[in-house]
Amino acid sequence: MRIVSFTIPSDDLVRVGAVIDDTVADLSALTPPVSRGQGPSAARRLLDLQDLQRVERASTTAERHSLSAVRLAPPIPDPSKIVAAPVNYTDHQREMNESSCVDALGVFLKAPSSLLPDGGTVQLPYTDRRFDQEGELAAVIGRTVHGADEDQAAAAVFGYTCLLDMTMRGGEDRSTRKSFDTFTPLGPHIVTTDETGDPSGLRLRCAVNGTTRQDASIGDLIWSVPRLIAYASSVMTLHPGDIVTTGTPAGVGTVTTGDTIVVRIDPIGALTVRVAADHAVACPTRGAGRGPKPPQHITTLPAPAPGPEPTGEARPDA
Ligand code: MN
Repeated sequence: MRIVSFTIPSDDLVRVGAVIDDTVADLSALTPPVSRGQGPSAARRLLDLQDLQRVERASTTAERHSLSAVRLAPPIPDPSKIVAAPVNYTDHQREMNESSCVDALGVFLKAPSSLLPDGGTVQLPYTDRRFDQEGELAAVIGRTVHGADEDQAAAAVFGYTCLLDMTMRGGEDRSTRKSFDTFTPLGPHIVTTDETGDPSGLRLRCAVNGTTRQDASIGDLIWSVPRLIAYASSVMTLHPGDIVTTGTPAGVGTVTTGDTIVVRIDPIGALTVRVAADHAVACPTRGAGRGPKPPQHITTLPAPAPGPEPTGEARPDA
């Protein structure tokens, strides 16, 4: 199933639904929508049901909206937390000249208030700092886990979606540099694990203005999805709707006003956002030039070849 959160023009309630072809089956009868901030979202309560078959049955009889007539929200609009992996691909560790990776750094948190839906606009806050795109695969947690082993961690995943970990470079703490409002585009929808299978077979690509910058196999993660979630659950209890984003491969680079960023992970789909700096001001902190050293050149990768997508095969080293 493909689960979305959305609003319709007649009210401002954030609904949950299932994408079927070019329509959305409105699951409001199963988990009624609430106004923003008025209790857990319909999407989180849908996960709390712990009953995907019931959701599937409800979607067959639900009222349908045309997909083009709804406005998408982040698929989980209100996770209790967004857990992120700092350096979880060897090629990204190399391009950042980082001596440490996830196995020394652990995980960090991004503010849930930084979420942005597919089609949204990332707002760069400062005129005088560098901002980069980081395309990532995100797991959506489906059941409460604490101290999970890797099997339990894998079983706790409800589904996967695309995430952009927008980042200010410099010496400020990661939770500052990556938590500005709009800095966590998420979506367009969650694809459940029965459709994705083992995520290590998936391929992630990220393009800026049509030029591919990042192209990686999820199988290249230093800490696999189950290992990352198991570790995260040893630190903090994970709840249904929590997001665990897995880190970014090589090819990060600077973005600026007017850019369009696309993260594509098949068969999940593509997350597209624009970049603006409508209210940017001078940065009040002094982190510029400090911290991990980002690459100075933009990566330009060949456009994907037409034809069937290779999946599950390791990419030859470039
Ligand atoms: Mn990241």
